[in-house]
Amino acid sequence: MTYDIIIIGAGPAGVSAALYAKRANLNVAVIYSGESQLEKAHKIDNYYGFSEGITGPDLYKNGIEQAKNLGIEVIQAEVTHIEMLAPPPKTQYSVKAGGNEYTATSLILATGNKKLRPNIAGIVDFEGKGVSYCAVCDGFFYRKKNVAVIGNGTFAVEEASHLAHIADSVTILTDGKSDDEVKSALSKDSSVAQKIKIDVRKVSKIILNEEGSKVGGVSFEDGETLTVDGVFVALGSAGAADFAKKLGLALNGDSIATNEKMATNAPGIFSCGNANGGLLQVCKAVYEGGVAGLSAVDYIRKIKQ
Ligand SMILES: Cc1cc2nc3c(=O)[nH]c(=O)nc-3n(C[C@H](O)[C@H](O)[C@H](O)COP(=O)(O)OP(=O)(O)OC[C@H]3O[C@@H](n4cnc5c(N)ncnc54)[C@H](O)[C@@H]3O)c2cc1C
Repeated sequence: MTYDIIIIGAGPAGVSAALYAKRANLNVAVIYSGESQLEKAHKIDNYYGFSEGITGPDLYKNGIEQAKNLGIEVIQAEVTHIEMLAPPPKTQYSVKAGGNEYTATSLILATGNKKLRPNIAGIVDFEGKGVSYCAVCDGFFYRKKNVAVIGNGTFAVEEASHLAHIADSVTILTDGKSDDEVKSALSKDSSVAQKIKIDVRKVSKIILNEEGSKVGGVSFEDGETLTVDGVFVALGSAGAADFAKKLGLALNGDSIATNEKMATNAPGIFSCGNANGGLLQVCKAVYEGGVAGLSAVDYIRKIKQ
């Protein structure tokens, strides 16, 4: 099948892009597969218009339904390969998903930023009970408390720095990995460096608090424990960056680099939402999706002139 625009990802960024592109009367498909960040969000309490909040899975499902109701083709399949078939001025891209090949003049990457889970037994059971994947979302709940951040890169330092302004103590747990990148990133931010400790020991499990209801700490392979009220996971993500590398797109760390119109450095390829890094929130994903959708519309119209 051939489309004007293929959007990869059906989270807030991808669906917003699709809504704007479809309403400009273009031939649009959204391809998605796998868990979105939004589905992991227990409750979204800070998005405009939901006075009682809304669960992440409900908001995600509503978005996909909204796209379908507008007549957008929504295909559930994992995208495994993307390549350029024809260069400008009439670009054509091939997208392989679920054993099929789709082509389009323009692509919008809205794949989110996959959060990797550390290989720590039972960590999934603590999600929403003290294990978080987003310091900006959940840091507020740890005012004057003690938290740990699992990760060994720049992303972990970013999350720890945010938490250092809120929590009493922040310890970065590299979980047996080198702390070189963490130390290097911390050395660039003297305002928080002194508040953040680093522990390189391998974590064996998350332990419960005294009430047995939430995270109470972590235990290490050497048998010692660290008492914390919350554990933030900030492992590097390869999802968006993988596609970017395949297409030769410029990156900022693990995030796709775009201009203010969400255009990447490749002709006709736009990117939006968590894939671009920055504020990892629904409001930004929706905004960037809208901009990417309209930019792709402009791109197609110029080609068709
Ligand atoms: C636990 C948690 C709590 C959060 N709480 C809040 C909150 O309170 N408020 C807030 O504003 N934000 C919150 N967020 C962040 C919010 O969920 C994200 O910022 C938002 O979902 C990003 O939207 P997105 O469209 O960029 O990516 P996502 O929502 O991650 O969507 C990515 C899409 O890409 C698809 N995809 C990925 N790879 C492929 C592939 N290879 N092939 C096909 N499809 C693919 C996925 O299936 C999905 O449809 C939270 C996140 C988490 C994890």
